[in-house]
Amino acid sequence: LLDGTRLDRYVAPIADMLLDLQVGGLNEILALPAFSQLDQSDVELALREFGRFAGNVVGPTNGPGDVKGSALDRTSGAVHAPAPLCDVYAQYVKSGWGAAQFPAEYGGGGLPSLVGIAFQEMFASANLSLSLNAVLTQSAIELLLAWGSEAQRALYVPRLLTGEWCGTMNLTETEAGSDLGEVRSRAVQDSSGRWRVSGTKIFITWGEHDMAENIVHLVLARTPHAPSGTKGLSLFVVPKMTVGKDGTLVGKNTVRCLRLERKLGIHASPTCAMEFDEALGELVGPEHGGIAAMFTMMNAARISIGLQGPAVAERAFQHAYRYALERQQGRASGVVPPTRSSIIDHPDVRRMLLSMRTSLIAGRLLLYSATGYRDLAREATTPELRSRAQAFVDLLTPVAKAWSSDAGFAATSTGLQVLGGAGFIEETGMAQHLRDVRIASIYEGTNGIQAIDLVTRKLPREQGQWIHALLDDIAHDAEHSPRSSSFLTESHEVLSDALAVLRPATEHMLNRAEFHREDVLSGASAYLELLGLTLGGWLMMRRAETAKTYRPEAASQAESESEFFATEHVARASGLGRAILTGVGRLSGIPLPDQPGYP
Ligand SMILES: Cc1cc2nc3c(=O)[nH]c(=O)nc-3n(C[C@H](O)[C@H](O)[C@H](O)COP(=O)(O)OP(=O)(O)OC[C@H]3O[C@@H](n4cnc5c(N)ncnc54)[C@H](O)[C@@H]3O)c2cc1C
Repeated sequence: LLDGTRLDRYVAPIADMLLDLQVGGLNEILALPAFSQLDQSDVELALREFGRFAGNVVGPTNGPGDVKGSALDRTSGAVHAPAPLCDVYAQYVKSGWGAAQFPAEYGGGGLPSLVGIAFQEMFASANLSLSLNAVLTQSAIELLLAWGSEAQRALYVPRLLTGEWCGTMNLTETEAGSDLGEVRSRAVQDSSGRWRVSGTKIFITWGEHDMAENIVHLVLARTPHAPSGTKGLSLFVVPKMTVGKDGTLVGKNTVRCLRLERKLGIHASPTCAMEFDEALGELVGPEHGGIAAMFTMMNAARISIGLQGPAVAERAFQHAYRYALERQQGRASGVVPPTRSSIIDHPDVRRMLLSMRTSLIAGRLLLYSATGYRDLAREATTPELRSRAQAFVDLLTPVAKAWSSDAGFAATSTGLQVLGGAGFIEETGMAQHLRDVRIASIYEGTNGIQAIDLVTRKLPREQGQWIHALLDDIAHDAEHSPRSSSFLTESHEVLSDALAVLRPATEHMLNRAEFHREDVLSGASAYLELLGLTLGGWLMMRRAETAKTYRPEAASQAESESEFFATEHVARASGLGRAILTGVGRLSGIPLPDQPGYP
């Protein structure tokens, strides 16, 4: 039972994912003209194929990658990824999976983003560290497609699509973490008018490695005489190897990895301090327009990072479930003569497993829904439908990132609890999942920053029109319940209770946004949690309804899971109202001790 290689296997939960994709709007998206060449069976085929690759090929590299980690050769400056990851990455490039969700004109597979996000989930469940490389590369493609010049798109996108070249995101500096207005890296034009970028970036994921022949760094820097703060930032594409117009590698650029960070988890993913020393770069988008351009990359990555919560929790769930079936402790109640039972027969262990499973599904539904809106925002048939969908992408992104990553960490921690002491022992592999998933609540904008973004920017947009529209949709489903039958009784009741708290909390946030900012900031995280739980409860209910049409054999299970999630998780939402409504007084009324310790 301590043997991680036997119990810690990942099997892609394709049937679950297919149902959850329907809740995310797959049917509606496949009906759009842009995807007319696809049908449901194509999606299922692609998912099954990638699921096999993730489970059989990528999954087994997770533990060895953690033990070996990436390493910096100080003499040459090269970063070596653990050997099994290099082999798997080469197979990933050869198979072309990385291109699946991108436009055919650049060599992509033309699948909706919604299907692409399901691939990302399986990749992250199989090996979070390696999947980060793909996530950053795909986010870099999104950025270049939206902001790159025609020449930049033609040069970089096809090679990033295949994964022959990889992408990175270079924002963070020692003095510029959450506060990007402090970025000090500089870009100046040389005598021939070419941009030269200088500065030191820290914490750069896959900033240097030996899995690809080139690395395409997207770097925020400040041009001469730029205004201070984020308004003065510009975005540059700085390749590790400089390239000719036809993509041939010319020579090494002046970019190097100074050190790798030692860290709690994701050991196989190199987290690099990067030095740019008058490195040759090109401006992407307008000068001083860097933060808007970088937000294209960050918003894409925020969904992918949020998804790491449910993805790792899914793997932890599968491991905990197998363990609970085998581990014998205690006696089953009511059995004569008393016999030893598997721990799965104990009500509290079943509670833990169901708690994990339902919260990871709720997180997945939230992320799939946000991604479904991304497809609609690009491809819906009228401008009104596209801008409505974009409004929901904007509103849902911070909640999906923060709520799902936190819920994924909590579920993974519960998985460790199911294993008892064995969970704390490294050989089982469960401890790695907990160490790995912890980062998702921190990077790509901490969850605290997501909550602030939600209440100060996303909620008040167009006088709260979009949050009101969302709450009306939830209320409609909560109120129009067939109360005479027992179908989803708990789900409807608990959701109505949560809405009764969420409505006044939303008005409180909207009314105080302009003149009582401290009140809004004090309740931001509690508000995000309340909204995340309510959305989760709503989507679980919709999943139970959707299953009747798309997976009738699982409809009764989906109903029970919605009922369980309502009582175990959503019912806690009502308690959050006080933390939101009491505002800043709740925090400022309690002085912290004069100093951190009591000498
Ligand atoms: C493993 C790893 C990989 C990473 N990968 C990348 C990468 O590829 N590229 C990249 O550019 N960066 C990367 N980062 C950096 C990451 O995005 C930052 O660490 C993160 O944004 C937080 O910044 P910080 O660490 O400076 O924390 P700080 O900004 O110092 O925040 C510390 C705490 O204060 C809170 N806080 C800060 N400001 C406010 C505020 N205004 N209001 C309320 N609370 C606030 C935060 O929520 C947090 O809890 C990575 C980090 C790690 C650890």
